Amino acid sequence: MDTIALITGANKGIGFQTARLLAAAGATVLVGARDRRRGLDAEESLKQAGADARFVQLDVAEEASVRRAAEWVGAEFGRLDVLVNNAGITGGASLPSQTPQDCLRTVFETNVFGVVAVTNAMLPLLRKAPAARIVNVSSGVGSLTWMLDPDSPMWRLTSVPYPASKTALNMVTLMYAKELWETAIKVNAANPGYCATDLNAHSGFLTAEQGAQVVVHLATLPPDGPTGVLWGDLWPAVDGKAEGVVPW
Ligand code: NAP
Repeated sequence: MDTIALITGANKGIGFQTARLLAAAGATVLVGARDRRRGLDAEESLKQAGADARFVQLDVAEEASVRRAAEWVGAEFGRLDVLVNNAGITGGASLPSQTPQDCLRTVFETNVFGVVAVTNAMLPLLRKAPAARIVNVSSGVGSLTWMLDPDSPMWRLTSVPYPASKTALNMVTLMYAKELWETAIKVNAANPGYCATDLNAHSGFLTAEQGAQVVVHLATLPPDGPTGVLWGDLWPAVDGKAEGVVPW
């Protein structure tokens, strides 16, 4: 049976590379993008690389768009095997004391509320798959442990919207994992590592493809794989391993 995988924010960056890698592994990839032109361009570029790719208009912060996307997936495929909640924004960086409220709201709308909205809309379809996987693309900056470690690269960060949204997303991940504990559905958060994408003006030292490999690992977990973990790029490497379970 074909794997049907929906990736939000799949028109570029880590989302696009995730779609590319999942398609290369044989999945039918549903390319979620809020902008029709950018989504269709991504679909075309994936198809040219031999992928079975379908664009679906999906703005995670727009209720009607999320509902239409779920109806479309249901009508076309009747189920969903993989949901990658990848769409995300940073809202820029500012000192906590100077955080604009509207920025905080906008970032949470996409990075947290959007994930809950899309997951809840897709859950009936995920339940129809034999063993669905949900991957929430989080970040090491959401790790309270790392953020409080003066030796960690996260220590120098002092901004509320993005890190707080990823910490909230980690908790969201745990709660879904717990609700679905007795099912075959696994829900995990991914730390792709610091990847060069538009999100950070390409300052990252990993490629988007390297970040996507972490996401694909969680999207294709075997039945005995974990649920309710934050997994991915490790700082510092543990026992020589650059990837593993990230502390909360
Ligand atoms: P990116 O290249 O800027 O891509 C972000 C994607 O999210 C774009 O496709 C963007 O669409 C989409 N998006 C934003 N708001 C959306 C909305 N309301 N509805 C639907 N799509 C929306 O960034 P990226 O680095 O690949 O980031 C992907 C994910 O990885 C994010 O969740 C980010 O927090 C996470 N992450 C990234 C890094 C890193 O170092 N790059 C590290 C850790 C975690 P448009 O093109 O229309 O704007």
